[in-house]
Amino acid sequence: MSIIIESANLSVMKKKVVIFIVFLCLHSGIYSQSSNTYEVYAIQFGQPWFAKASEAAVGAPDKDSIEGCNIFWLLKGREKIILVDAGFLINEYTNADHYWDSHNYTRPDSALIRMNIPASAVTDIIITHPHSDHIGGIGLFPKATIWMQQDDYNYFVGAAWQKNGRSDGFDKRDVQQIVSVNVEGRLHLVKGDSIEIMPGIRVFIGSKHTWESQYVLVNTSTDKVLIASDNIWYYYNLDHMLPITYTFDPSAYVQQMKRMKILQPNTSLIIPGHDAIIFSRFPEVAKGIVKIR
Ligand SMILES: [Zn+2]
Repeated sequence: MSIIIESANLSVMKKKVVIFIVFLCLHSGIYSQSSNTYEVYAIQFGQPWFAKASEAAVGAPDKDSIEGCNIFWLLKGREKIILVDAGFLINEYTNADHYWDSHNYTRPDSALIRMNIPASAVTDIIITHPHSDHIGGIGLFPKATIWMQQDDYNYFVGAAWQKNGRSDGFDKRDVQQIVSVNVEGRLHLVKGDSIEIMPGIRVFIGSKHTWESQYVLVNTSTDKVLIASDNIWYYYNLDHMLPITYTFDPSAYVQQMKRMKILQPNTSLIIPGHDAIIFSRFPEVAKGIVKIR
C-alpha cells in the first residue's frame, strides 16, 4: 500500500517538474524562439519621399503615386544579430543625390541603437545587392561577416566599371570597402539559388535588379517572412505585377515576384525594399522601427 502511495506521489512530482520546465521555457523564450527562428524588424533610416508610380513601375498610370523611404532589416536570433543590408553613409557623393537628403537621415548604427543593439553586436550582414543605399553602411559594423552572391560581387568589383558596364547606383568607395572586407576574411560569397546560408535563413537569386541580386526567406516562430529588398521596390509593383524601372531583365523581375508568392502566399509577409507603407502596416517598437514578426 505504502509503495503504491509513494509511486503516486512520485508521478505527481514528475508532472510538476514537467510543468515547471515548460513554464521556464515559455518565459525564457526558448519555446518561442529556437536557434533557427528570428524576430524580424524593418528599420527606416531615410524618411519618406513621394513619386509618381510610373517612376517605379513600368506601365503604371501617371495618376498613381507611391511613398518611398530607405530601409534595412534586423533579424534577431538567439545566437546571432543579423542585418539584411546595411544602409548607407551620407557623404559628399551621396549627399548630391536628391533622395538622400541629410535632413531626413539617421545613420544606420544610430538607428540600431534604438533597439539597444550596438554596432559591435552585429554578427552578419546579408547584402541583397550592392547599390550604395544597401551596402554603403557595412563599414559601421566591423565585426560582421558579410554575405553576398558571388556573381553580384564579381560584377560589382569588375565588369560594372568596364566599357558597357552598368555602375549607376554604385559607389566606388563601396567597391574598396567590400574588397577590404574580403581580404580581411569577413566576406562569405554565396553561389546559387535557394541556399540555406544559416539555420532558418535561405537566400534566393533575385530579379536582375543588379547582376545577381538576392532576396531572403526567414523563419520566425510563427511564419516565414520574405524580405524582397529591391527585388520588389514597392507593394505597387507586387500588387500590379509590374517590373521596376531599374532591372537588367523586366520579365525576370515579374517571374521572381510570381515565385515569391509561391514561397510566401501571404503577401503581407513579402516585404519590398523601399515602401513606406511597411511602417504603418506593422506595430512600431521604437522610432522608425516596426516588428514584422
Ligand atoms: Zn534600394
